[in-house]
Amino acid sequence: MTWGLVGQERAVAALERALAAGRAAHAYLLVGPERVGKHTLALKLAQALNCEGEEPPCGRCEPCRRIAAGIHADVQTVTVQEAEEEDERRKGIHVSQIRELERVTALKPFQGRSRVVIIDPADEMNTSAQNAFLKALEEPPPQVVFVLVTADESRLLPTIRSRCRRLELRMPSVADVEAALRDRGVDGERARLLARLSAGRIGWALEVAADPSLLERRRESLSQARALASMSVAQRLELAERLAQDFRRRPESLLAELEAWRDWWRDVLIVQAGAEDGVANVDRLPDLRRDAQRCGQSEVAAFVRAVKEGRRYLGENAQPRLVMETLLLEAPGEAPRRAAVRPQPARR
Ligand SMILES: [Zn+2]
Repeated sequence: MTWGLVGQERAVAALERALAAGRAAHAYLLVGPERVGKHTLALKLAQALNCEGEEPPCGRCEPCRRIAAGIHADVQTVTVQEAEEEDERRKGIHVSQIRELERVTALKPFQGRSRVVIIDPADEMNTSAQNAFLKALEEPPPQVVFVLVTADESRLLPTIRSRCRRLELRMPSVADVEAALRDRGVDGERARLLARLSAGRIGWALEVAADPSLLERRRESLSQARALASMSVAQRLELAERLAQDFRRRPESLLAELEAWRDWWRDVLIVQAGAEDGVANVDRLPDLRRDAQRCGQSEVAAFVRAVKEGRRYLGENAQPRLVMETLLLEAPGEAPRRAAVRPQPARR
C-alpha cells in the first residue's frame, strides 16, 4: 500500500476503488477523531489525483513530491486564519476565504489534472462561510475536488454533508500504532509505551517519537492533573485565571493540557472500574491507583465529562476564564476536603 496510513484500510480501499474506476467524487468529507490522519489522507488523495507514477499515489513523482512539500500550484489548504494580535474575537474560516476560493477554482489547473481544495477543519467555517461554500458545491467547477476535514461533522450544514462523499477514519488500534512506530525505527519498549499512551492517535505518537520533549511536557501536564485534586477553591480559581490568560496567547497549549487531564482522569475511572488493563498511562499505575482510592468515582466521571465540554466551549468562543473556573471547580477532590466544602450528598 502506497498510502501509508495506519489503520485506515477501509477508507483507503474505498478511495482506491473510486479512483481506479475513474469515479472520484467532486467533494469528500473526511470524518474522524483528532490525530488519526485525516489531513494526511486528504493530501494522499490530492497526490493520487495528480500522480504521474505507476501506482498512485507513488510519492516519488514530481507532482507527488510537490504536494507533499506544500508547493503544488493546484493543491491548497484553507484553514483558520491567525487572529490579529489582541483580537479576542474568535478566529475561524471566514466568508472572504471562501469567496477567494471561488475565484481560484474557476481557473483550470496550472500544473496537474485536478485542482484539490482541502478545508481543514471544515467545521471552523462560520455560517456565512458555509453558505457561500454550499454554492460552490451546488455548481462544482470541473476538475475541482473539495476535501472537507472534520472531527465534528455536526457543526456542518446538513446540506453540505449530503453533497459530499463521506469517509470515516477510525482510531487505529494500539497494536497498529506500535507496529507503525517500529517500522519507523522506534525501539521495541518505547514503541510499546508510546502506542499505549497515544490510545490510537497516531499523529501524536509520531510527533512524540520525533520530539521527546513533548513527553516531558506531558509528564508535567499529568502532574498538574493530579495536583488539582488537592487544591483549595481559591487555588483553583487562581489557576483558572492563569490558564485563561495563557489561552489567549497559546490556545493550543491549553487544549493539549486539557487533553492530558482528561486522559489521566479517564484512566483513574478505568482503575476504579477494576479494568486496569485498559489504561493508557501504563507506566503510571501506582499513581493511578492512589488517585482512584482518594477520589469518588462519580466526581471523577463528572470531571472527565466537564473537561470534554470545556474543550468544546473553548473552541466555540466562550469566555476562557469562565470555562476554566467552571471546569476547575468540577475537578475531583480528596474526600475529606470535599465533604467539608459540600455537605450535601448529591449535587444534582
Ligand atoms: Zn506520484
